Amino acid sequence: MDTPPGFYEVIIVGGGPAGLSAALVLARCCRKVLVVDAGRPRNYASHSVGGFLSRDRIHPKELLRIAREELHAYPCVEQRHAEVKEIARIAERFHVMVAGEAQPLQCRRLLLATGVVDELPSIEGIEALYGNSVFHCPICNGWDVRDQPLAVYGTDEDGAELASEMLAWSDDVVLCTQGSRDVPDEWRDRLRERGVRVIDRKITRLMGNGGQLECLYFETGEPLARRALFFSSPQHQQSGLPASLGCQFSEEGMVRKKGACEATNIPGLYVAGNASACGGTQLAIVAAAEGADAAHFIHCSLAAEDFRRGRVKGKGFAPKHP
Ligand SMILES: Cc1cc2nc3c(=O)[nH]c(=O)nc-3n(C[C@H](O)[C@H](O)[C@H](O)COP(=O)(O)OP(=O)(O)OC[C@H]3O[C@@H](n4cnc5c(N)ncnc54)[C@H](O)[C@@H]3O)c2cc1C
Repeated sequence: MDTPPGFYEVIIVGGGPAGLSAALVLARCCRKVLVVDAGRPRNYASHSVGGFLSRDRIHPKELLRIAREELHAYPCVEQRHAEVKEIARIAERFHVMVAGEAQPLQCRRLLLATGVVDELPSIEGIEALYGNSVFHCPICNGWDVRDQPLAVYGTDEDGAELASEMLAWSDDVVLCTQGSRDVPDEWRDRLRERGVRVIDRKITRLMGNGGQLECLYFETGEPLARRALFFSSPQHQQSGLPASLGCQFSEEGMVRKKGACEATNIPGLYVAGNASACGGTQLAIVAAAEGADAAHFIHCSLAAEDFRRGRVKGKGFAPKHP
């Protein structure tokens, strides 16, 4: 590689499925890449990644370990365990300030794969059960608790929809609304018709043992025995970097992509994975696919730029996506 130290063709912020998958594809395109990851994945509390082709139910840490190890085969890829503190775009280059570095590192293209954070409902005892028997995603964890007594925590229409969705995994589903008036009457009727009980009493505490939910306690009345609880609640960007760089966001707070590829409204800046999952599926394999897609577009855009400037690296490469 003919780039000076501290200068990369691509810097990837975030080393989850999206970022590592992008690094792999860029490595195979002979690009000089740096992946910087702070080690706070969205699924920190989870014990398995369900539905990842050929790795079904693998431990999340093991999935990342294999991906990182595979990258060691490519000398053009560097990986650092650190936090990116600040990024500035100056004269078509990104200046990336990494914690512990005296000088900013530079790159021609930047990929943000920084993920999101789920906002846990504020209920006593929830943290200890989260990822074991308290979940947000039925596609990820419904199978693990199929045919068991389930509760759904949801204070609006989304919560009612989630309760209805859970009937695919169990016919014993209860919706707990915390007394919210935002669950529409038509949804209450629909749930009743489908055999889902709606409880408006406020949950005060979840009780379990070794990560296994056993019982929901309410402000008033009898406790309720349940084996798992699914919740519907908002999420937010894990990192402030997309906002500080001037990215546009959807109403749900996801980074907007420009057109079909993973480009953003900022030239040279791309986004992949959950951080940009606008209304889409938030599975790990989809995040990985977005990373691969972003890598393809980044490679093509670098090749096109080099071609325009008479710096073509490969012979006869005709970039299709400038
Ligand atoms: C409890 C739970 C269970 C789940 N179960 C499943 C499942 O069974 N199957 C499935 O397919 N999906 C599952 N998911 C979803 C899965 O976790 C996500 O789809 C996946 O992690 C998204 O990958 P990502 O690369 O976009 O983001 P992440 O995996 O969240 O990675 C983002 C990375 O960016 C890093 N980062 C952020 N900001 C910075 C910064 N400033 N500097 C450096 N690094 C930074 C973070 O440290 C993090 O490592 C689950 C999620 C949760 C919460």
